[in-house]
Amino acid sequence: MRVLITGAAGFLGSHLSDRLLAEGHEVVGMDNFITGNPQNLAHLAGHERYAFIRHDVSNFIFVPGKLDAVMHFASPASPNPNSPYGYVNLPIQTMKAGALGTHNTLGVAMAHGARFLLASTSEIYGDPLVHPQDESYWGHVDPNGERSVYDEAKRFAEALTLAYHRFHGLDTRVVRIFNTYGPRMHINDGRAVPNFIKQALEGTPLTIYGDGQQTRSFCYVDDLIEGIYRLLLSDEHRPVNIGNPVETTILEFAQTINAMIGNKKLIFEPEKRGAGDPQRRRPDIARAKEVLGWEPTISLEEGIRKTIPYFREKLTQA
Ligand code: NAD
Ligand code: UDP
Repeated sequence: MRVLITGAAGFLGSHLSDRLLAEGHEVVGMDNFITGNPQNLAHLAGHERYAFIRHDVSNFIFVPGKLDAVMHFASPASPNPNSPYGYVNLPIQTMKAGALGTHNTLGVAMAHGARFLLASTSEIYGDPLVHPQDESYWGHVDPNGERSVYDEAKRFAEALTLAYHRFHGLDTRVVRIFNTYGPRMHINDGRAVPNFIKQALEGTPLTIYGDGQQTRSFCYVDDLIEGIYRLLLSDEHRPVNIGNPVETTILEFAQTINAMIGNKKLIFEPEKRGAGDPQRRRPDIARAKEVLGWEPTISLEEGIRKTIPYFREKLTQA
């Protein structure tokens, strides 16, 4: 296949590019670098099956040549208002990437007769009242809270994708990605994993927002990419949760990272996050197991062990 990947210079987009190339496909990467990093793709320069187009997906997209698949991953993704990469600090760009970007990438897929895969998110469930979250849950989202620019853009993106499927018969897929981590996340991205690993390596206190009793379920990037690749090849048009169902409190998670790196410091920062930090999050992955035969295989400790060297190297380069 010849595959367009938007957000290709980001964390997930760059891993996805590597996986598709490893499977023998051709990749056209697209990114405007708003939160991404050209270094994530530097190793692909000169690759005979790889091309890159610097472009903002909020504007009309033209890709010469044939395309068999379009994978729309372009969007700021970190909720942290303390980070310049946080979508709260890029609110209009985030809404445009999710709304106009989804419209434009669906248009490209239509024009090329290509299949389409949308990177959606567990955030469409908001601060969920149902636990764990399966795909039938409609969510609990504040339409004008701090996170709404991201959550509502992704909800719109899902609705638009399904409209193209139902009305135009476009061959679409929707993956609802739960918290995923690994090498190539930006060190200043502000999400829990880069923050905690960086802080532990520097021997500074890990910043726990709130009391640390909120939960997340963290998935290592290789597991996620495997699930997404299987979804791309499947005929499943309904949304599919992909994530690791092993749930941990943020306090336990910080303590695990501290113990692995040999740091002991923690600090509680109650006022740092705006309202709307989801209190519990865990994917129900029954659908992914059933239709894709997928489940994660990499434990939290193993995934963190694979991730630490990347951040150690970034810190020595800084
Ligand atoms: P990231 O910030 O590392 O990557 C996003 C990429 O999109 C960046 O390279 C950025 O420059 C690019 N981008 C943003 N707006 C753009 C635009 N208008 N035009 C072109 N490029 C643009 O984040 P990530 O974690 O790799 O997330 C990738 C996708 O996966 C996002 O759509 C995100 O919503 C989704 N997602 C990620 C997670 C996760 O845990 N990592 C969870 C749920 C959903
Ligand atoms: N978090 C934290 N300290 C940090 C970064 C994040 O306590 O330095 C918490 C955050 O409040 C949330 C959880 O960790 O409850 C996961 O945050 P992240 O930004 O990784 O993603 P989210 O799941 O909120 O989208």
